[in-house]
Amino acid sequence: MTDPQLTSRHDLWAARDAAVVWHGFTQMSAYVDNAPIIVESAEGRELIDVDGRRYLDAISSLWVTTLGHRVPELDQAAREQLDRVAHSTMLGNGNMATIVLAEALAPRVPVSEPHFLFASDGAAAVEQALKIAFQFWTNQGITTRTRYLALGGAYHGDTIGSISVGAGGFGTDMFDPLRFPVLRAPGYDDPGWADIAVAMIATHAHELAAVVIEPLVQGAVGMWVTNPESVARVAEACREHDVLLIADEVATGFGRTGTLFASDQCRIRPDLMCIGKGLTGGYLAMAATVASRRVYQAFLGPDLSEMTLYHGHSFSGNALAAAVALRHLQLFDELEVLANVRDRAAQLSQALGTMAANRGSIGHIRQRGLMVGVEMNPPADDLRWGRKICAASVRRGVLLRPLGDVVVLMPILTTTAEEIERIVSVLGEAIDEVCGP
Ligand SMILES: *Cc1c(COP(=O)(O)O)cnc(C)c1O
Repeated sequence: MTDPQLTSRHDLWAARDAAVVWHGFTQMSAYVDNAPIIVESAEGRELIDVDGRRYLDAISSLWVTTLGHRVPELDQAAREQLDRVAHSTMLGNGNMATIVLAEALAPRVPVSEPHFLFASDGAAAVEQALKIAFQFWTNQGITTRTRYLALGGAYHGDTIGSISVGAGGFGTDMFDPLRFPVLRAPGYDDPGWADIAVAMIATHAHELAAVVIEPLVQGAVGMWVTNPESVARVAEACREHDVLLIADEVATGFGRTGTLFASDQCRIRPDLMCIGKGLTGGYLAMAATVASRRVYQAFLGPDLSEMTLYHGHSFSGNALAAAVALRHLQLFDELEVLANVRDRAAQLSQALGTMAANRGSIGHIRQRGLMVGVEMNPPADDLRWGRKICAASVRRGVLLRPLGDVVVLMPILTTTAEEIERIVSVLGEAIDEVCGP
């Protein structure tokens, strides 16, 4: 064993990893060869691998990290809660940490007189919203409102309900026989999407339980974006025709688009909202379905009656996650995070424009706040530019992960001006290496 390559800690850990861990959205036969980063620790906005190499986390650890890694105040909140209790059940009982979190979130979410049904993942928050919307009508004796309208390009998570309202693709088409049918309006790549959605809502209102959208940005499809006015028109159509509106803010929530929620910019007040990802600053698995007073009240009735929502996850309202989420919400104000998002977003937009100006390999750049998709323009289909550009960036110490040929930039919300410059210059170098100058 004299070859240092064979004895590097990376190779040992990658082999141990592949022997027992199954990674999501990852072809495991190629996992080790694709040079995965095996993280040992982190500091601020950098991840540190088992060999001590540092990577600027330019995808917010798949869109969850908001303030950085090892934020002293969040670490402290977790430690203090550990001295009280880590978890106790929400089913029929309560927990102080969860109550205080819900009280703090209530005036900040764009939902009227909200109640919070907690879960652990975004997909579960969507699943809960779909079931609540369905039962909302049946609790009122209306059994014909059984369908959903969702958008082309939509992504709402990976459970069967959430892939049903999702648009497919992402390697999930073989599950089509398991999907329930959904009315489908176009996605944000079609400039007429809102006109068509509004017309479909008018035509199908009598059979619609709810409309499901990702306000402002459809993330997973490759950062398709729309304008606040179009979202507002669809929300208005829902109101006019008495169809519930579910806003999936799992990705857009907690500052990514420059406001605390994208719904704030669109000036909409959804009946149900799904939050997740950034809720705990990216620390712990917590999500929630937020219901308006009107929705919530349709579930009130005699004890043990069928008016009850018979749904609840084991780790719903986890106290440790709640304590971190509460401190996270306070830090958003204390650190003036939204102001930084807006400044860095403007800087990033300008820097990307300059970088793209003399590179024909770049097609569209789509951005809302600090959610960005750089769509490459490969001359042939099977060049895997997205994958190769991100690998070249990782070799230069900037962690990126593509969606097909869209390079996603999702900097941590506290990112500095220097880090934005570094991300764009590394991306430029990576593009030149893969696509030629
Ligand atoms: C990530 C995401 C989800 C799913 O959240 P998970 O926590 O991964 O289950 C749902 N909706 C949107 C818009 C997302 O981006």
